[in-house]
Amino acid sequence: MTSSPSLLDHPLVEELLQRQHEEQRSRLCGQCAERGGQAAASGTCTECSTDLCNVCIQTFDNYCDTCNTLGCGECILSAHRSHQSCTLLAKDAEVKETLKTRLAGMR
Ligand SMILES: [Zn+2]
Ligand SMILES: [Zn+2]
Ligand SMILES: [Zn+2]
Repeated sequence: MTSSPSLLDHPLVEELLQRQHEEQRSRLCGQCAERGGQAAASGTCTECSTDLCNVCIQTFDNYCDTCNTLGCGECILSAHRSHQSCTLLAKDAEVKETLKTRLAGMR
């Protein structure tokens, strides 16, 4: 009496499928997860495809001035280490400042 169990009956495969299903249902921020937190992802790092939440995108992520691209802190620190980079918040302030001086110059 020998039964040949199909691969799909394997408990590990079942667990894997379950996990994949859960991941599809709710994408979580990879950076928050690394710190033990949970936050719904609202964006993805263009460099490493890590899912990122709103907070991480705005506060931890960096903007590379040289490449004109946005990436998670890890990517900017590694791939763009020698480039001109700043946080998105700093970039935002910089843009606002430029606009202000431009507007002031128009008067
Ligand atoms: Zn996050
Ligand atoms: Zn990244
Ligand atoms: Zn760069």
